[in-house]
Amino acid sequence: MKRQFILIALLGVAGMASAQTKFQPQDTEFYEPVPRVVSTKANAAPSDAIVLFDGTNLNAWVSDKDGSTSPQWTIANNTFTVKPGTGGIQTKQTFEDFQLHIEWKSPELIKGEGQGRGNSGLFLQGIYELQILDNNNNKTYTNGQAGSIYKQRPPLVEARKAAGEWHTYDIVYTAPRFNKDGHLIKKGTVTVLHNGVLVQNNTELEGTTEFIGLPKMKAHGAGPIGLQDHGDLVSFRNIWIRPL
Ligand code: MG
Repeated sequence: MKRQFILIALLGVAGMASAQTKFQPQDTEFYEPVPRVVSTKANAAPSDAIVLFDGTNLNAWVSDKDGSTSPQWTIANNTFTVKPGTGGIQTKQTFEDFQLHIEWKSPELIKGEGQGRGNSGLFLQGIYELQILDNNNNKTYTNGQAGSIYKQRPPLVEARKAAGEWHTYDIVYTAPRFNKDGHLIKKGTVTVLHNGVLVQNNTELEGTTEFIGLPKMKAHGAGPIGLQDHGDLVSFRNIWIRPL
C-alpha cells in the first residue's frame, strides 16, 4: 500500500510539475517507508544477520551424507575445518534470496595442484557451487578456479592470496523463480566480492554446476547453504547470512 501511495504521489507530483514546469526540492523527498535500523560493528555480523558459525559449534549444520546433526568436521581456534571423507555439511535452515558472508582458507602446507589443492565449495541453495580453491599460483581451468561458478563462469579477476591466508566471500544471491508447473520464469543471479573485489557481477545461473556435462535446470524451492568435502583441509570462520 505504501509503495502504491508513493507511486501515485509521485505521478501526482509529476502532473503538477508539468503544469507548473518546476519541481521544488521537497517534491521528490520521501519520509516513508522508513528503512529498518541495522547496527554494525567492524568484523562482526550485522545485528539482523543469522550467525551460521560463531566460532564455537556446528549447531546450525548437518552432515549432507547422512543428515546427522553432529558433523564431524574439526572445530578449533574459532574456525572449523573439513574432515576429509566425512562428507559435506549443510545448514539446517533453508533460504531463498540472501546476503552471505563467509571466510575461508586453504591449507598453509601446499599439497597437490589444480583442482586437487585446497578444494572445497560453497553451495548456494545446496545446488550451485561457488568454487573454493587455493588460488596461489595454482593453474586450473578458469571456470573452476576460486571465485568461479563451477564449470559455468570464471571470476572477473583473480583476487589472489597466499596459501594459508584468510579469504572472504560476500555474496548477494537471488534464487531462480519457477512457475507452478516447474518451468523457469527467471534465472537465479549471484554477485560475489572475493576479498572485497568484484568477481561475479549479477551472474545468471545456467543450472546445476556439474562436474561432467552441461548444467541442468531443475525447479526447486528454498535450499540450504552447503560446504564441500573435496578431501582437502579447507577451514572456515565468521559465517553469517541475511535472508532478503
Ligand atoms: Mg569445489
